[in-house]
Amino acid sequence: MVSTHPTGVQHSGSQYLPQRRDINANPSPNQELLPLTARVHNHDSLEIAGCDVTTLVEQFGSPLYILDEETLRSACQQYRDAFKQHYKGESQVLYASKAWNCLAVCAIAASEGLGIDVVSGGELYTALQAGVSPNKIYLHGNNKSREELVLAIESGVTIVADNWYELRTLVEIAGEQGSRGAGGAREVNSPSSSPSPLPIRIMLRLTPGIECHTHEYIRTGHLDSKFGFDPNDLGEVFTFVSQQPTLNCVGVHAHIGSQIFERQPHQDLAAVMVQWLRDAGKYGLNITELNVGGGLGIKYTESDDPPSIEEWVKAICEVVQEACAVENLPLPKLLSEPGRSLIATACVTAYTIGSSKVIPEIRTYVAIDGGMSDNPRPITYQSVYRAVVANKMSYPLTQTVTIAGKHCESGDILIKNALLPKTEPGDILVVMGTGAYNYSMASNYNRLPRPAAVVVANGEANLFLQRETYQDLIRQDSLPERLKI
Ligand code: PLP
Repeated sequence: MVSTHPTGVQHSGSQYLPQRRDINANPSPNQELLPLTARVHNHDSLEIAGCDVTTLVEQFGSPLYILDEETLRSACQQYRDAFKQHYKGESQVLYASKAWNCLAVCAIAASEGLGIDVVSGGELYTALQAGVSPNKIYLHGNNKSREELVLAIESGVTIVADNWYELRTLVEIAGEQGSRGAGGAREVNSPSSSPSPLPIRIMLRLTPGIECHTHEYIRTGHLDSKFGFDPNDLGEVFTFVSQQPTLNCVGVHAHIGSQIFERQPHQDLAAVMVQWLRDAGKYGLNITELNVGGGLGIKYTESDDPPSIEEWVKAICEVVQEACAVENLPLPKLLSEPGRSLIATACVTAYTIGSSKVIPEIRTYVAIDGGMSDNPRPITYQSVYRAVVANKMSYPLTQTVTIAGKHCESGDILIKNALLPKTEPGDILVVMGTGAYNYSMASNYNRLPRPAAVVVANGEANLFLQRETYQDLIRQDSLPERLKI
């Protein structure tokens, strides 16, 4: 059956193209399904940033992650500019690089003036190797190892302290560094002629008691989360930190969830955090940074309706400014750390269609050459995606099929109900919105090599993550002599 609009217009893959509502408008990437530069050319072919998607697959292989540089840069700029426009104090946007941590993405974000939030030694190492300035890197984690902490301290990045164990470990490490003469503790905020890892620059992560589940949120005094200090312990934590000459606590941090469409939860969070700032003063702490985390949602399907980047930023800035005015506090440096809304829409994954299986009256499976190893979100979170056929963009959408991955796992289904034109082997299926938590969560399950990734801009494509080879798959293997056959 051919699918039609209520207006009688036939649906085709072109319906997912970015909506140019107003030629001067700057579309918010998180409100689109395809990257901002997506177009249809030669009537039926999808191109991104002037690169034909089918040709990219011929050139770089399949599956292929295709990252649109303009969409990523535009999202970075929209965050940065929105804070500049709506916040009277200093601000800093951090890219939550867990969404996709690699050299090229860190470099693009940093070149747009963003800092980088990292959650492990590996992510930290990558950000540093990408050339990101340590004073714009923030290290998270609920169980950072001693090695990770030492790397962070010696690199001069800010550590977002998560719990008592970590605070005590930091004080211990600082003691060791000090006695080894690694700069020694100096007065907090005092200028130093030589770079010194001490005092260690930290923020405190707190669990605010605001929990968001996309369409609803509840408030609890004590939130069940593995992350952060309980706000009921605030006084004790502030007292401890204020007594440590080797720790320089510059701010507070909280993150309430992901893929959030409402503004109210973050506004409530911002108001609570200003109270924390006020309370810190009572314990002699001069806290000047406030990080509201990430969480703005994106449009994965037509029915998703997130606010624009600017609307989200404005809502938070207003609350912080009002609350600070009420409390008679100077405006803190305001940080946020979006991941998904910066990069998800900038990337699509192109697959080649292979086998199919028709079960009359029940379902048609169409299989692709990737699946849960390159996108584990559907099997992990039941995430819903949309797809188009890159070489049939103007064909009518005539069938609803289930897109199956190639893994030896019945649950390896990328899209349960995909509305597509009639497909055949060799067609290129493009899954949209795959920039966040896809490559970064990819695995070698079933020993599938990870796909390549290219960044496209102005008709040019550059490889930034090589396709893994079978040789790569056994790089860490060894065969003890006595097991050889
Ligand atoms: N900050 C922290 C501490 C997080 O845990 C996350 C995601 O889980 C983010 C930022 C980024 O969130 P999002 O990708 O939803 O913007």
